[in-house]
Amino acid sequence: MLDRIEFWFLLVQLIFAGAFGACVGSLVNVLVYRLPLGLSVVTPPSRCPSCQTVLTWRENIPIFGWLLLRGRCRFCKASISPEYPIVEAAVALVFVVVYFFWYCVPFPWVWPPSSSAVFLGIDWAKISPEWASQGFSASWPVFVVLMVLLGSLAAVLIVDAKTYTIPLQLVWFPSVVALLGHVGWAAWLSWSGRQLAHAPGWTWAIPTPGPIGWGAVGAAVGGIVGIGIGNILLSKGLIRRSFADYEAWEAQARAEAAETSAIQAPPAGDATATPPAAVAPTGAEATPPTDSSPADLWIEYPHARREMFKELVFLAPAIGLAFVGSWLAIRLAGPWTPGATPISPGSPAHDVPLWLDVLAGVLLGYLIGGGVVWAVRILGSLLFGREAMGLGDVHLMAAVGACLGWIDSTLAFFGAAFVGLLWWALGLIARGVSARAMPYGPFLAVSTLLVILLKHPLERLFDLIAPAWAPWNLP
Ligand SMILES: [Zn+2]
Repeated sequence: MLDRIEFWFLLVQLIFAGAFGACVGSLVNVLVYRLPLGLSVVTPPSRCPSCQTVLTWRENIPIFGWLLLRGRCRFCKASISPEYPIVEAAVALVFVVVYFFWYCVPFPWVWPPSSSAVFLGIDWAKISPEWASQGFSASWPVFVVLMVLLGSLAAVLIVDAKTYTIPLQLVWFPSVVALLGHVGWAAWLSWSGRQLAHAPGWTWAIPTPGPIGWGAVGAAVGGIVGIGIGNILLSKGLIRRSFADYEAWEAQARAEAAETSAIQAPPAGDATATPPAAVAPTGAEATPPTDSSPADLWIEYPHARREMFKELVFLAPAIGLAFVGSWLAIRLAGPWTPGATPISPGSPAHDVPLWLDVLAGVLLGYLIGGGVVWAVRILGSLLFGREAMGLGDVHLMAAVGACLGWIDSTLAFFGAAFVGLLWWALGLIARGVSARAMPYGPFLAVSTLLVILLKHPLERLFDLIAPAWAPWNLP
């Protein structure tokens, strides 16, 4: 009898998680369509792109609205892309899977705790992070941060794949939610005398300074102040923006390319008068196609190395103040937090208050998440003489770091190379040729989702790679 009640309770929870995910997916569709066009996200209400008929509330229901209309506008019968219900269903599925594994496993009815869930040497019953073990009511703000990040990543994936740009609103929003969610919940829990369950040796759902204490707190605050100073200097024109002359260079390069092709090729006039290229194989005279598509013209920009020094100037205050902040904090508050090791629910409270420890964790995640990508960008550009990794990728991984901490963002960044390799191999198998040039954002987004879902199997992999530190247990 109890089993049946528990089953229905589980089903209701999963339906709620799925409905919430479908609504977030619906919002993702709105963002993906409107942000690149510079339209408002709030108004006007959703309408048919073809005849502007406003959708009714029933047609606005995620997934089912599209099925109700059978993919066609009620008024003008223009077809509506299946991309909309697919995105909604995909985000709903991700939410259901994460909710199920975080809060419902091991579930007595589906998955008796006594039964073994070990498969491929991994205990799948332990796939959820420690912070979820106290249940939804004790950890919902952290779960909301995670879901907001996943929704933003879905939007980033689609927009970046389509337009080769990452709208910054999409990555600033989860960063702000991470700051409010993590720090707010930490303050609330310490005020009410509670703690969030966490991996042994850590204090929160994300890596925080914890036992290292004040030095890392000072570095985090100093680094963020330095980024703020860099931005102020940039807006006042006291330091120069990198790639400021890129647009002018591109316009000139394109004009020159058009000029040379106009001289070399016969004037394009009557289409029937010009012989097809295949009929005129005049050897040496034949010129390879010179005009680059806008997507790959940037490779030829000659000043990528020079521009990196401008970015280093921008970063100098952040790097400098991180050291100053660390030194000051240690001088004023001491290097270590007394009584901080071992951190367990029974140990005395450490000197860095929990909210400040978590605040530093979010800031460090933001700085290191973005910093790792930026370091690769600067080194790669200096080495190869062309822009490596976009600044959009820097912003994206900074947001991932703010939400999940510096360890996950670093893992996701290096994991993205494997996701990219897999995509390239799949394209090779599917079409016999490599797929079209993809921006890096979608790989970073998919890699982040994989790190979230597969943290526990990854830890077992690290046990094999570095057994000296086994068993690995990351926050
Ligand atoms: Zn219509």
